[in-house]
Amino acid sequence: MNPLNELIVRTLPFVPKKVIRHFASRYIAGEKLEDAISVVKKLNEQKKLATIDVLGENITSESEAIEALNTYKLVLNTIKENNLNSDLSIKLTQLGLKLDYDFCYSNVEELVKLAKQLNNIVEIDMEDSSTTEATLKIYKELRSKYDNVGVAIQAYLKRSESDIKSLLPLKPRIRLCKGIYIEPETIAFKRKELINHNFKHLLNILLQSDAYTCIATHDEELINEAYRLIAEYNLTDDKFEFQMLLGVRPELGNRIVSDGHKLRIYVPFGEHWYAYSMRRFRENPQIAGYVFKSIFTRNSF
Ligand SMILES: Cc1cc2nc3c(=O)[nH]c(=O)nc-3n(C[C@H](O)[C@H](O)[C@H](O)COP(=O)(O)OP(=O)(O)OC[C@H]3O[C@@H](n4cnc5c(N)ncnc54)[C@H](O)[C@@H]3O)c2cc1C
Repeated sequence: MNPLNELIVRTLPFVPKKVIRHFASRYIAGEKLEDAISVVKKLNEQKKLATIDVLGENITSESEAIEALNTYKLVLNTIKENNLNSDLSIKLTQLGLKLDYDFCYSNVEELVKLAKQLNNIVEIDMEDSSTTEATLKIYKELRSKYDNVGVAIQAYLKRSESDIKSLLPLKPRIRLCKGIYIEPETIAFKRKELINHNFKHLLNILLQSDAYTCIATHDEELINEAYRLIAEYNLTDDKFEFQMLLGVRPELGNRIVSDGHKLRIYVPFGEHWYAYSMRRFRENPQIAGYVFKSIFTRNSF
């Protein structure tokens, strides 16, 4: 980590909560489900799809996992009631992955089944590398029974090419992203050029396969490469979509939509916004840099 980023990350806990909240409000829909619903309505009006995420991860008791499960179910039902164009993104550690594999599996299966009844999709986020193996195992088991489930793959992980190859026979739905956690060099590419190189390589594999590919990035170099491959392989939009995080580079997102492509926005909401934001800032000092940039370029909070 460069010394400036390190300093920024160490200073963040002393930044007043309301300042962090102000900054985070661009990236997080709010604390309540109604907040997420109203953000999704606006996105849908702009011809953008959404994926709603309930903030929280690494729960420590079964009751917390069941609480999260119930919230996720409520989200799926509310999406249907409001006739919104949004799916659901989930984190397996929020549904008990670190407590018990079978318990977690049955929670996720319940959600995927409900989503199926409601004609919706569940996208499984990929968390840090201690969870990769179990997450993919759960995904494979579910995908062999249901067609409405996707999983994220991180281009910074050296294992991702072989993971993708092992998933391809299942005709998977894969969200390709760079990866947000801090991982050791033994298992992960650390330099941006290497991560981007691997992202392009994996994207090329996915776009030539039977997978449905969600291209999750705000990096113009990678978006341009996706455009190039889409044209080269003459792909129609039943094969891929672009994905971005709420509040990040909306002008680039508008361009993707006006170019006629599908764009899905990741919309996180929930009471755990502070812990979530701080973790994200610590995990990705580049984002912490954005916080500071935003703090120093705004006049009031
Ligand atoms: C829809 C979606 C789902 C994701 N799911 C996962 C997941 O399941 N697991 C996982 O590990 N990671 C996930 N990520 C995060 C992803 O791995 C990256 O950490 C993140 O998207 C930043 O990488 P980038 O490709 O945008 O490239 P970067 O090079 O990091 O960013 C490109 C440019 O985008 C802008 N930018 C990027 N992030 C921000 C920000 N937070 N604030 C302001 N500007 C920003 C900057 O201008 C930057 O120069 C997801 C990302 C998206 C878009």
